Amino acid sequence: MSQRQLAMVMDLNKCIGCQTCTVSCKTQWTNRNGREYMYWNNVETYPGEGYPKKWQELGGGFDEAGDLKAGVVPSLQGEYGVPWDYNHDELASGAEFKPHVDPKWGPNWDEDEGAGDFPNDNYFFYIPRICNHCTNPGCLSACPRDAIFKRDQDGVVLVDLDRCQGYRYCIAGCPYKKIYFNPRISKSEKCILCFPRIEKGLPPACAQQCVGRIRFVGFLDDEEGQVYKLVKKFKVALPLRPDYGTESNVYYVPPTEAPPKFDASGKIIEGSTRIPPEVLEKLFGKEVHEAARTLRAEMKKRKETGESELMDLLIAYKHEDMFRLDNNYYAEYAKSKGLPAIKPVDERYLSGKYTSKMKFFAKGAHA
Ligand code: SF4
Ligand code: SF4
Repeated sequence: MSQRQLAMVMDLNKCIGCQTCTVSCKTQWTNRNGREYMYWNNVETYPGEGYPKKWQELGGGFDEAGDLKAGVVPSLQGEYGVPWDYNHDELASGAEFKPHVDPKWGPNWDEDEGAGDFPNDNYFFYIPRICNHCTNPGCLSACPRDAIFKRDQDGVVLVDLDRCQGYRYCIAGCPYKKIYFNPRISKSEKCILCFPRIEKGLPPACAQQCVGRIRFVGFLDDEEGQVYKLVKKFKVALPLRPDYGTESNVYYVPPTEAPPKFDASGKIIEGSTRIPPEVLEKLFGKEVHEAARTLRAEMKKRKETGESELMDLLIAYKHEDMFRLDNNYYAEYAKSKGLPAIKPVDERYLSGKYTSKMKFFAKGAHA
């Protein structure tokens, strides 16, 4: 258990599936050096198979007794898809525009493929996913090398690349499949919650760049913060697949505001909702029904009275108000441990000899 826990809340009613978050992460952390197929942030369409393909069926996490469940490691050819590039350089000489492999699957492959019958009751929504920086991480429990650690100061889950031997038990153990194998260095890698930014009081790149302003970032014990209010006070932000038992620290405001259904003559069915409640329950647990009631009641209150703290929070008038990070906290923590204030407090990730080697790998290589 960490001293404090950072968390992110994503309001799914506002996600437009633009993938700006994906690109901001990809260009910063994973566009080369064996990380080409990795998407530390991805946005998938639900219902859909997701990334990696059918990740919800690949095992990992914990059973009711708290024991780690068996899981599998997805394959590049099957579940991730071989990453591809295009023949841009050949276009000037008249070549046909084409990828350099024959793609069969990849991130966002099933974008906007929903369920139901158009136009009467079809639906889909987007789920952006990062590592959940779980309180009880399946990846950490599965690692026989003790190479995965949870930072005391903020609960960020990181891989110590010098200890990691590339066994990949962590990938099988993570039920969200949010930790990846880097074949160039034979190590596992994952979202680091942009901790070098966070320690300077800046939000992770995915949250900073989010066009829909769906992402709140802050400490779970900060009672004045939006994250605390959405998760603990109003209880409208819920973890994804809480049945996996890892106690995720990424929370979602469920998508409750889909349009109503139409009947056979094209008339609106009053009070209907396109996203089946059982779908939301599978993803977010039984609490989703109470969260939906709260959201609707607050929306009604806002319409009738003009007042609602919850609606004001979710509208997020000022982007910078969505982030409650404290560089002084990190500086004080570093001081208490006798570390230089400016450098990342926990250097195991950045100072690993394998990490520093990575920049020498050939450009354009893929996993
Ligand atoms: S989401 Fe997966 S990789 Fe991230 S901390 Fe949880 S178990 Fe580990
Ligand atoms: S940038 Fe924001 S709105 Fe766009 S896909 Fe990502 S989470 Fe959704």
